[in-house]
Amino acid sequence: MKNMMLSSDLKKILKGEVLDDEATKIKYSHDASLFEVSPQVVVYPKDLEDVKNLVKFVKENKGASLTARAGGTDMTGGPLSESIVLDFTKYFNKIQGIMPKREGGGYGVTDSGVFYRDFEKETLKHNLLLPSYPASREICAVGGMVANNSGGEKTLAYGKTENYVTELHAILSDGEEHVFRPLDEHELVLKRRRADFEGEVYRKMYDLVVYNDKLIQEARPNVSKNSAGYNLWGIWDGKTFDLTKLFTGSQGTLGIITKIKFKLIKPKTHSRLTVIFLKDLNSLVDLVKIVMKFKPESFESFDNHTFKLAMRFLPGLIKIMKPKNIFKLAWSFLPELWMVISSGIPKMILLAELTGDSEAELETNLQELKKGLREQRVKFRIISNEEEARKYWTMRRESFNLLRHHTQGKRTAPFIDDIIVKVEKLPEFLPKLNDILDKYNLTYTIAGHVGDGNFHIIPLMDLTDPRSAEIIRELSDKVYNLVLEYGGSITAEHNDGLIRSPYLEKMYGEKVYKLFEETKHIFDPQNIFNPGKKVGTSLKYAFDHLVRG
Ligand SMILES: Cc1cc2nc3c(=O)[nH]c(=O)nc-3n(C[C@H](O)[C@H](O)[C@H](O)COP(=O)(O)OP(=O)(O)OC[C@H]3O[C@@H](n4cnc5c(N)ncnc54)[C@H](O)[C@@H]3O)c2cc1C
Repeated sequence: MKNMMLSSDLKKILKGEVLDDEATKIKYSHDASLFEVSPQVVVYPKDLEDVKNLVKFVKENKGASLTARAGGTDMTGGPLSESIVLDFTKYFNKIQGIMPKREGGGYGVTDSGVFYRDFEKETLKHNLLLPSYPASREICAVGGMVANNSGGEKTLAYGKTENYVTELHAILSDGEEHVFRPLDEHELVLKRRRADFEGEVYRKMYDLVVYNDKLIQEARPNVSKNSAGYNLWGIWDGKTFDLTKLFTGSQGTLGIITKIKFKLIKPKTHSRLTVIFLKDLNSLVDLVKIVMKFKPESFESFDNHTFKLAMRFLPGLIKIMKPKNIFKLAWSFLPELWMVISSGIPKMILLAELTGDSEAELETNLQELKKGLREQRVKFRIISNEEEARKYWTMRRESFNLLRHHTQGKRTAPFIDDIIVKVEKLPEFLPKLNDILDKYNLTYTIAGHVGDGNFHIIPLMDLTDPRSAEIIRELSDKVYNLVLEYGGSITAEHNDGLIRSPYLEKMYGEKVYKLFEETKHIFDPQNIFNPGKKVGTSLKYAFDHLVRG
């Protein structure tokens, strides 16, 4: 359908704005991935009725489809589409309520377009937290976190977003809003008896997971975090049937999320950061074992390239930190500068945050940790000042963002950006990974969640060079083969999108991939929700849409 006709038809049925000017289309052609896909039109649904009308419209107009967008920070091309993009941050941005529980913890109910940073401001007023926030916490929205099943620095202790979604409102392909939550056996029977589309979804999904149980359970990746494919193994444990587990991480391919009820935790009252500087990676696994004994809330890492980048763009980094006293903060980088001068740039920096319910509990653990680290003869510092701790966290959280905005001629190329293998496999896995990477003359940063064995490798590339596409393809094949050889997952938290959906069949095999296709068909028989993600995709399509320049 021609753009102008499409826009004028949509304007007739929507209260929210409909835009198809060039500037809007260029903005919505991009996320934080390698891809560029221009939408026909961008809409800002004002309310539920608008979304329902959109579903009815695309069902009647063959070839039209709907792709939801929240913060647009996806690293996979997940929110990119050639059809209609729905931006939820403009009107679906109300926090309905934060409900603390007397016994601790609580719940928060929010629209899907609310930015995480705004949600956190409200939860913290009640001393509550959604602990699965990603490093993009300042720029992403909660709908995107759910759709990607995001994780972050506290996931090691608290798990990913899937653990916190207790209820989810979504508009399905029948054009109606449905509420998903965990059901007991009796509730499940009632749902399966329903004569409407929701009943059909429950009947068919129940049959799919029950009849293929062995295949599904065997396909579950043996890692602590996974966002690849559809989470079929999380739906039914024989007692509870929970389609929120399937929806979370499905990248908007099964329906449109409108409202979410999150479980919230009470943050620990005492925490202290230990920074460990590694000259080489030989002792990495031993160190991971030592630190993990103390059950750190976060255990993160970044490499020498990230550190160099942080030093190079120090003024930008300091600005992000918004210090009370800019000179004092700049001064506080002297120890790092001295370390570089006296013993060179560390190969990897590990950040371990230990927490406790009392200062005494924390102090005992810190003393024990100190002992363990001294025995390993590594350089480390226990940070007692909050502003200084923030300095290291900013380096870790902002490295990718800094790289995105400060490279001339080259750009960040996330395509092997989220691999995970079990920590025990790292001593064998990491040298093999390095051998593969060393064959290519690339500049890249590696940061990640070392406690989970999850690494974000971000090369810098000139995408106008035709060789770049070849390298991306070759490296993806080699790295993913290695990850799968070690029983890992091609994506722990960033999800599949355009870049990884074509590898799902390789990761799970033909039979499980067929179940993914069936799942999509049960929810979305006309393929109207975010087509070409998870299933029905090709590497050719992805490479045809690489950002040029
Ligand atoms: C600097 C940086 C750091 C990052 N660090 C991390 C990290 O630590 N961990 C991590 O997991 N990710 C990380 N990411 C990736 C990304 O920020 C997260 O996955 C984030 O949760 C995506 O949220 P968003 O609001 O930007 O979603 P978007 O990019 O807008 O969308 C993401 C996906 O969700 C779908 N979607 C959005 N809204 C809806 C809805 N209402 N209904 C249905 N589907 C919807 C979209 O179609 C798309 O497929 C990082 C990205 C950047 C740029």
